Amino acid sequence: MSIIRVKVAEMQSVSAFVYKVILKSDTQLPEFSAGQYLQVIMSDEDKRPFSIANPPYEKDFLELHIGASEHNPYAMQVIERLQAEGEIDVELPCGNAVIQNDAENSILIAGGTGYSYTRSLLLQKLHANKGAKVSLYWGAKTPADLYEMDYLLALQQAHSDFKFVPVIETPLSGWNGRTGLVHKAVLADFNFLDGQHVYVAGRFEMAKVVRDEFLPKGIQPDQLIGDAFAFIN
Ligand SMILES: Cc1cc2nc3c(=O)[nH]c(=O)nc-3n(C[C@H](O)[C@H](O)[C@H](O)COP(=O)(O)OP(=O)(O)OC[C@H]3O[C@@H](n4cnc5c(N)ncnc54)[C@H](O)[C@@H]3O)c2cc1C
Repeated sequence: MSIIRVKVAEMQSVSAFVYKVILKSDTQLPEFSAGQYLQVIMSDEDKRPFSIANPPYEKDFLELHIGASEHNPYAMQVIERLQAEGEIDVELPCGNAVIQNDAENSILIAGGTGYSYTRSLLLQKLHANKGAKVSLYWGAKTPADLYEMDYLLALQQAHSDFKFVPVIETPLSGWNGRTGLVHKAVLADFNFLDGQHVYVAGRFEMAKVVRDEFLPKGIQPDQLIGDAFAFIN
């Protein structure tokens, strides 16, 4: 793992709560694998994890999607620090929730900003171009929270192996897509989950529910991949 000073090259508000941040460095960035995260070093004792949203083949920058609001000071303080100072130390690469096999079919489940984690995996899989099917289920409260919906619909058009399923929590007028909790949409579409890896990122509560409801569907514990599983009991 390396510690490196990075500068904010871009910061953009992409939804009511989410900031997309592009970080660059004057020196070469450490290598990482799709699905890994970095830690923003606020102080020696205070390191805050954020998934790396870009795939490893994009080597010149690190992209973060940070969900930050007054209700989430943990992330908001990071945004405020980046805005005020324009640079910070980060530690990477962290985490083991990486692609297990480029060539196998996989399901990606993202709750809210958990999308950041799945984005890197998705782009890496499509780049590897091994003919594996990849399905991304992205759940959020409102369509506006799915801030890369147009990008993902365009990717789906361009890649016949990729299926994108946006899932909104509560039915809304004008929304013709799936509704409910994102993992329930996966359970509705796949009768039996054994035989493919399922990659999960979102709130810890969501990861726990996924584990509890997916294991009885035939998936083995080591086929459920996600950093949250290392943090929850
Ligand atoms: C290693 C690591 C990396 C992280 N990386 C990031 C990052 O890059 N960016 C970031 O902002 N935060 C990150 N976090 C923090 C954490 O993952 C986010 O705070 C979390 O994903 C935020 O979710 P949300 O508020 O966007 O989702 P919400 O808006 O609360 O939920 C979105 C969807 O998730 C599902 N869901 C939510 N709760 C439940 C539940 N209890 N049961 C079932 N389904 C549920 C529903 O489908 C819901 O619509 C990271 C944490 C760790 C440990």
